[in-house]
Amino acid sequence: MANQKEPSDVGKNCAGCKKVLSKKKKYYRNGAYYCNNNCFKKKDAGGEQQPA
Ligand SMILES: [Zn+2]
Repeated sequence: MANQKEPSDVGKNCAGCKKVLSKKKKYYRNGAYYCNNNCFKKKDAGGEQQPA
């Protein structure tokens, strides 16, 4: 249980690359924060690979 992070920490890291986001550098998309649109697209495309 000691491994759990505080809830307040949620949303402060990029959902794509897990980097810590500064106050000015955050990009909100689909209920998650990202560094920029690039990370959003990355996660959106690379999260689950769907065969065509
Ligand atoms: Zn990122």
